[in-house]
Amino acid sequence: MNQQQQLPKIGFIGLGAMGAPMARNVAAGGYALTVLDADAGTTRKVAADIGATPAASAAEVGARSDIVVTMLPTSRIVETVLFGADGLAASLKPGSIVVEMSSGAPSRTREIAERLAALDIALVDAPVSGGVPRAKTGDLAIMLGGEAATLETIRPLVARMGSTLTVVGGVGAAHAMKALNNLVSAGGFLIGIEALLIGSRFGLSPETMVDVLNASTGMNNSTQKKFKQFVLSRRFDAGFGLDLMVKDLGIALDVASETDTTTPFSSLCLELWSAAQKTLGTGQDHTAVARFQEIIAGSELGPRG
Ligand code: NAD
Repeated sequence: MNQQQQLPKIGFIGLGAMGAPMARNVAAGGYALTVLDADAGTTRKVAADIGATPAASAAEVGARSDIVVTMLPTSRIVETVLFGADGLAASLKPGSIVVEMSSGAPSRTREIAERLAALDIALVDAPVSGGVPRAKTGDLAIMLGGEAATLETIRPLVARMGSTLTVVGGVGAAHAMKALNNLVSAGGFLIGIEALLIGSRFGLSPETMVDVLNASTGMNNSTQKKFKQFVLSRRFDAGFGLDLMVKDLGIALDVASETDTTTPFSSLCLELWSAAQKTLGTGQDHTAVARFQEIIAGSELGPRG
């Protein structure tokens, strides 16, 4: 029996900045893979690049797969792919599993899981952190929510995409955790850029300030991996959309509201990111929020070097 016959057949829906490199790592693990994106050209190109079978609809992915990964922008789109016309849910066999790796909304994820359970299909939420670089190397941090037995079944598959797998609770728990992670990341980015703006008006060099922060207690993921690379360089192309960050902050604040948690700092954080989205327009990289901060500060951090 060859390796592909022993492994479950995998479907992968959503081949964007994250999905394409993640699907590549699944294919490299020897899985028979069927892929789909809303953009037919992307489906064909990714399928050809990684040796997968291109599909024309979510229903076709379902008919060919035992486990289907979704890596889509929002829970609303996941619902459409599952339950819309030519949807996945109608063609998946009883006993199959949906691995929802998008950054979704936990309450909607739980509703989706209930609808799927009525069809004897299990759902695991498995959102990721680490961005495009770690998606490429298969080194993502993956949060897992779901039933223990289902999580064990999908563990070898998600281990193709990530190196840190953390079970955080039942269905929906991982989506809550992911939104909270991005809330922390979003806040760290804003405060870091504000510090650079204050310091540059005082006369400090932005580059030197980033070096000092990174050697000191002010260090965070943005100071280490984003400020020089994407802000001071003026590239603003980290590969994670500002629109997606605003979506994630909205989810975090919804969880705050559902849990009756008072969150003045988080609310301000969402308000600033939303204002940046309105000011800069949709389709921006999330690191462009620094340009919005420059506008309201009336200063520019200037080109690198
Ligand atoms: P993206 O916009 O680059 O890709 C999304 C892909 O989904 C696109 O190729 C789009 O054509 C496809 N799509 C949209 N609707 C579809 C449909 N109905 N059927 C099939 N395909 C459809 O987004 P991304 O950056 O890859 O992010 C995907 C998810 O992962 C989001 O939930 C995001 O918040 C999360 N995420 C992103 C990053 C990052 O660094 N980019 C990191 C962690 C998590």
